[in-house]
Amino acid sequence: MSHAPLLSARNVNKSFGRRADRRQVLFDVSADVFPGECLAVIGGSGSGKSTLTRIMLGLETADSGTVAYAGDDIRRESGLVFQDPFSSLDPRWRVGRSVAEPLRIQRRDLSRDEIDARAAAALRTVGLDPAVFLGRYPIDLSGGQAQRVAIARAIVNEPRVILADEPMSAIDVAARIQILDAFAAIRETRRETALVMVSHDLGVVRHIADRILVLHDGRVEECGSTDAVLGNPQSAYTRELIAAAS
Ligand code: ADP
Ligand code: MG
Repeated sequence: MSHAPLLSARNVNKSFGRRADRRQVLFDVSADVFPGECLAVIGGSGSGKSTLTRIMLGLETADSGTVAYAGDDIRRESGLVFQDPFSSLDPRWRVGRSVAEPLRIQRRDLSRDEIDARAAAALRTVGLDPAVFLGRYPIDLSGGQAQRVAIARAIVNEPRVILADEPMSAIDVAARIQILDAFAAIRETRRETALVMVSHDLGVVRHIADRILVLHDGRVEECGSTDAVLGNPQSAYTRELIAAAS
């Protein structure tokens, strides 16, 4: 990749807790995210995947180290998708309002019609017919539909980077392919948008990621192209992860 990184974390350290309970969860972690790529972050439960990616997206602060962003404000220019799709949808709001909300807050220059049009387009990108879904409430959505609404909301303001933290873990297996298709459609239509995907599903990672960062107990175990990491893993820990998944 010849581009300069969009996001660049250097020597990030992070601890949680106080005094005797204090525990370090990230140790000198460095990682880059390039424009347009999909970087998968994998590793066991508690290895620091969420903490690292939250720090990179400015949702949490590091104790030491730096995160550089090639833009104005990472938090304005990112879209977030979490494990529980309903966590990002207000149960009192129709889908149309939830999807349009980031635009209403950030793009005061846009007319109401333009905002509605962009919300409808975002729904179409994730495979949901606006005529059917704009007027629905979250309670009338399946988990897979709700997650795609959350993804539409995350992309509606055309962010430069999307963080998806285990976006399929809470979705039933039959609906996961639709989530994957939604991310694939985003990658097709918005080629400059970077996708940071935390996942422990190596099948998904193999399908969508360009590069993989392996975290192990808060340290970078290895990082490289998807083919290299999955096809020729350098560390015993990565080999274990791959063996456990197959
Ligand atoms: P992963 O996403 O890989 O499962 P996390 O980044 O969520 O790992 O967590 C790494 C470690 O940090 C875990 O031991 C977790 O319990 C701890 N941790 C994460 N967030 C907090 C927090 N806000 N307060 C205290 N401990 C936390
Ligand atoms: Mg996590």
